[in-house]
Amino acid sequence: MISANTQSRTQHIVIVGGGISGLSAAWFVQQAQQKGLDVRYTVLESSSRWGGKLLTEQVESGDEPFIIEAGPDAFLTQKPWAIQLARELGLGNRLININDQQRTTYVLHHGKPVKLPEGVALIVPTKLMPFLRSPLISWWGKLRIGLEWFAPVKDDDHDETLADFVHRRLGDEALDIFAEPMLAGIYNAETEKQSLLATFPRFRQMEREHGSVIRGTLAARRKQSASSAPKTAPFMTLMGGTQELTDTLVSKLNSDLRLQTRLASIEAAPDGRYHLTTENGDTLEADAVLLTTPAYTAADLLRPLSTEVADKLASIRYLSSGTISLAFHTGDIQYPLDGFGLVVPKSEQRPINAITLSSVKFTHRAPDGYVLLRVFFGGSRSPETMSYDNDKLLQVVQQELRTMLGIEAAPIFHRIYRWNRANPQYDLNHLELVDAIETDLPQAIYVTGAAFRGVGMPDCVYQSQQAVTKILKHVEQVLSKQPEVTA
Ligand SMILES: Cc1cc2nc3c(=O)[nH]c(=O)nc-3n(C[C@H](O)[C@H](O)[C@H](O)COP(=O)(O)OP(=O)(O)OC[C@H]3O[C@@H](n4cnc5c(N)ncnc54)[C@H](O)[C@@H]3O)c2cc1C
Repeated sequence: MISANTQSRTQHIVIVGGGISGLSAAWFVQQAQQKGLDVRYTVLESSSRWGGKLLTEQVESGDEPFIIEAGPDAFLTQKPWAIQLARELGLGNRLININDQQRTTYVLHHGKPVKLPEGVALIVPTKLMPFLRSPLISWWGKLRIGLEWFAPVKDDDHDETLADFVHRRLGDEALDIFAEPMLAGIYNAETEKQSLLATFPRFRQMEREHGSVIRGTLAARRKQSASSAPKTAPFMTLMGGTQELTDTLVSKLNSDLRLQTRLASIEAAPDGRYHLTTENGDTLEADAVLLTTPAYTAADLLRPLSTEVADKLASIRYLSSGTISLAFHTGDIQYPLDGFGLVVPKSEQRPINAITLSSVKFTHRAPDGYVLLRVFFGGSRSPETMSYDNDKLLQVVQQELRTMLGIEAAPIFHRIYRWNRANPQYDLNHLELVDAIETDLPQAIYVTGAAFRGVGMPDCVYQSQQAVTKILKHVEQVLSKQPEVTA
C-alpha cells in the first residue's frame, strides 16, 4: 500500500567532546533542526562534567562568593562570536565588562613590577612621552622600536615565527619585554616556534597596508576614535564565570547528551555511514562525525581510517600549564591594586609566567575586603612546575608573590588546576598544516576546536559554526539524494 506519509531517514550527527566547541556545535545543529532540517545529534563527553576547559568554581564566603576560573576568564570582544552566542542564549544581562579604569599592566623587570607605558598596544607604543619615560626599555631599544616606522616591508606571503617578525621590525627588546610575555604568553608558546600568520595575522596585514605596524596601529586608533559607534570594552565575562556559557548551552540542548562516554573507535560502514563504539560499550551509527577533542585524540581515533590525516593531527604539539588562584584580605597586599596584573618575561627566569588580579580585572570575583589573584605556571617557560606536588607549588608561588608583590600573608585559601597536554601550539606553517588536515579528512568526518584556527573561546565558537555549516551542506546533499521511505 502506498501511503501519503513518506519520509527520508533522519541524519544523525555525532559530536565528540563537550567543551565550548562541541556544545556550541550542538547548538548550531539544533538551530538547523528547529528550522525543519531532518537531523538529530548526540554529544559524547568522556569526563563527568560539561564545559571542558570552561571550569568555574564558586567558593562561598558571606554575602558574595569568590568566583574562581580554572581555565579561561575573559571573552575578547574584538572577536564577537562567544558574546553573540551568550546573547542568543539569553545571557545578555549576565555579561560584564572588564574594569577598564584599571587597565594598567605591569611587567617584571629585574625582579620588580614596572608599569607598561601607557598606550602600548600589545607590542606597539602609541603614546610618545610615556614610552620615552619608561625604564622598561633602554634608549637604544626605544630608538630601535622607533625605526620600525621605516623598516622594509616583507614582500612574500610566507609564514614566519613571532620572534622573527618582532626582531625584524622592532628589535630584541620589544621581543623580550612586550612580545614574549604578552603575545606568546596567550598561547603559552615559544616565540621562536610560534606562527605569526596563525596567531597574529593582523601584524602582517598592517605591515602590508601601512608599511609599519606602528603606523597601522595608529591608523586603527584614529579610525576607532572617529567612529560614532559606542566604545566596547576589550574583554567581557559572565557574572557567574565563563562556565555559565556552557552550563546554559547544556540546559538548552534538547537531544542526546552523554557524559562519561569516551569514544573509543570509528569504523567506516559499507553504507557510507560510521559505526562508533564508546569505551563503555555503547554503539552508535553516524551519518557525520564532528571531533572537537584535542588533536592527538582525533589522531588516534582517525588512524584506522587514514594514517595521513592521523600523522598530521598528531604533529600538532601540546604543552601543559596550570593556574593557582589565591584569596587574600585587601590589607595583605602592599602593591597598588591599580592594574590587571603582572607579566613575567622569559629573560627574568622565574618559575611563574604571570599574575592576574582577578578581582581588579572584573567585579563580582571576590567579596568586599578581599582580593583574588591568579598565578599562571607551566607552559614552555616553567615546565618543571607541572610536576611539583601541591605543597611545593604553593610554597614556590608564595615566595614569588612575596618577592614580586610584597605579600607576606598566607592566602585565606587557594585552588590549583593543572591542565595536562591542554595548550595546542601553533608552530610555524600551522595554517598550511590545518588546510592539509581538512583536505585529507575522510568523507563526513570533521574536526574543529582549539587545535586549529584559534584557541580563544570566540574562535572555538566561530570554528564550530563553520564546521556545522559544512556538515549541514553535506547532510542536505545526502537528504536530497535519499530515496523516500514510505510509511
Ligand atoms: C588556563 C587557561 C586559560 C585560558 N584563558 C582563556 C581566556 O581567557 N579566553 C579565551 O578565549 N580562551 C582562553 N583559553 C583557551 C580556551 O579555554 C580553550 O581553547 C577552549 O576552551 C577549548 O575548547 P574546546 O571545546 O575546543 O576543547 P576542550 O575544552 O578541551 O574540550 C574538549 C572535550 O573533549 C573531551 N574528550 C576528549 N577525548 C574524548 C573522547 N575520546 N570522547 C569523548 N570526549 C572526549 C574532553 O574531556 C573535553 O571536555 C584558556 C585556556 C586555558 C587552559
